[in-house]
Amino acid sequence: MDGRTVTLRQMTPAEYRSATEEREARTVRELSELMPRELARERTRQGTARFRGERAECAECGARGCEELFQGLLALDHSRAEPWGPLHGVSVSCFLLQHPGRLPADGGAAARGLLGAYLDGGQPAVERLIGRARAANSHRVKGGAVPGGAAQGPAVRPGREAPRGGFAVTIEQVAQGGTFPAAGFPERVRAWAAATLDVWGPHSG
Ligand SMILES: [Zn+2]
Repeated sequence: MDGRTVTLRQMTPAEYRSATEEREARTVRELSELMPRELARERTRQGTARFRGERAECAECGARGCEELFQGLLALDHSRAEPWGPLHGVSVSCFLLQHPGRLPADGGAAARGLLGAYLDGGQPAVERLIGRARAANSHRVKGGAVPGGAAQGPAVRPGREAPRGGFAVTIEQVAQGGTFPAAGFPERVRAWAAATLDVWGPHSG
């Protein structure tokens, strides 16, 4: 695998909140075409509240309340405590690949590469990969712009759509009741990564 294709998107809780706000604003705009703006705002608020209350099944990963769980996991990650902090990149890669609508421009190539490295070589392999990516990125910054697209990995699996659902393990199982208990957490993340790559198919390149 080419280390230069790896760019990890590290989302902070604040970024996550703003992404949610953006989605809500989009819903308001769409509903505003059909009804007065104030009513559209009200409906969007109700929709958000209802979704959180009932823990609807996610249309992408299939888990209930995945968004809330992910925010909880990010908070643990950012505490940098063991065992969550060191697995941040792996957790985020699993979550993104199970939500293809949120994948960065590389179509998940970097995330799949990272999960592949983790399953093959564990945390040391992930750290080597991230180290190489950082070195490549800083080199690129010093060397100026790369030709268009050169930094990008292959798009979503060639000739195929990104998978939706069908994952044997989602964030719901990793969360074990919503608190991501430390005991067995690395094993559950490993199962999450394996289930994700199972559905995506082997990483090529
Ligand atoms: Zn989901």
